[in-house]
Amino acid sequence: MSAQIKIETTKHPKLKPDQKNLGFGKYFTDHMFIMDYSEGKSWHEPRIIPYQPLVLDPATSVLHYGQAIFEGMKAYLSTDGRMLLFRPRRNMERINRSDDRMCMPTIDVDFGVEAIKTLVKLDKDWIPTVVGTSLYIRPFVISTDPFLGVRASNTYKFIIILSPVGAYYPQGIAPVNIYVEPEYVRAVRGGTGFAKAAGNYAGGMKAQTIAAKKGYVQVLWLDGIERKYIEEVGAMNVFFKVKGEVITPDLSGSILPGVTRESVIFLLKHWGMKVSERKISIHELFEAYQKGELEEAFGTGTAAVISPIGELNWNEHRIVINNNKTGEVAHKLYDTLTGIQYGRFKDEFGWTVEIK
Ligand SMILES: *Cc1c(COP(=O)(O)O)cnc(C)c1O
Repeated sequence: MSAQIKIETTKHPKLKPDQKNLGFGKYFTDHMFIMDYSEGKSWHEPRIIPYQPLVLDPATSVLHYGQAIFEGMKAYLSTDGRMLLFRPRRNMERINRSDDRMCMPTIDVDFGVEAIKTLVKLDKDWIPTVVGTSLYIRPFVISTDPFLGVRASNTYKFIIILSPVGAYYPQGIAPVNIYVEPEYVRAVRGGTGFAKAAGNYAGGMKAQTIAAKKGYVQVLWLDGIERKYIEEVGAMNVFFKVKGEVITPDLSGSILPGVTRESVIFLLKHWGMKVSERKISIHELFEAYQKGELEEAFGTGTAAVISPIGELNWNEHRIVINNNKTGEVAHKLYDTLTGIQYGRFKDEFGWTVEIK
């Protein structure tokens, strides 16, 4: 398949940033992948070109009606120099569920993974080597008809860009405080919550801004109808350990089905722990806390892998979980997942894909 991808390498390689100060999503590599879709021609002209701006007509569909979806995954460099991806097919399968929901054309999963591999391989010198760093991969699809009518576009672009990113926890995994959002909601059943649709994130920024002003790192989202059942934490899935049982909200349509979430559920079951995917209300959670039964809380996602929750504020009721310390289960999950991702642990589950 990769033979089909035309490659034009840059004549002006960029200076690479200082690996100690990468942050997240600030620097981009020398190249990008792009291919076009038009009705009748399907996806065509897959190519890798020097990283560059897009030129878009001001009437371009995506700028007005937001047919835009994205993915987020990482390439890791192992200590013995192997380039590893973590379950990349899952991301391509999710792109297609997102595409379908937004009336956008789907992409061949194997070809998508091949495009990612080809681009990462070309820019492999950009994968940072400092412990905990990685190369963030951002595939996305946008609608490109220069037309102001409200309808699905007939043309699209699938683009992949790469960004070297710093360690999420330079000082080691640590808990964060979370504001339970009482008014604004992220998604409703029947809406677009299960898709990584750009508009979901624009809609979430108001609550995020309010929480940040109050001194909280993220918001805990409640369901869009009763504002009662727990959905997600920021752009992460959420887990609670109550009396030895690990509970995570079930995928009801408004929750993003995370690859990390799926991997965490698998690992917990593999370790013989009790895991439930079910509705859990904020009342049930605070009650469990009052009874001394809430043992751990943590978010899961590609960026942080595991993000322990140390404090929750729900309408000015504050609870501190596990003395604001990272719990045992959160720690074990973090060590296991990053161990597999960076190739330090044997991958018994066939989750990693090596780029050769
Ligand atoms: C991307 C994302 C997640 C986490 O998904 P992963 O595949 O684990 O990275 C969770 N919730 C939301 C809203 C997201 O956008």
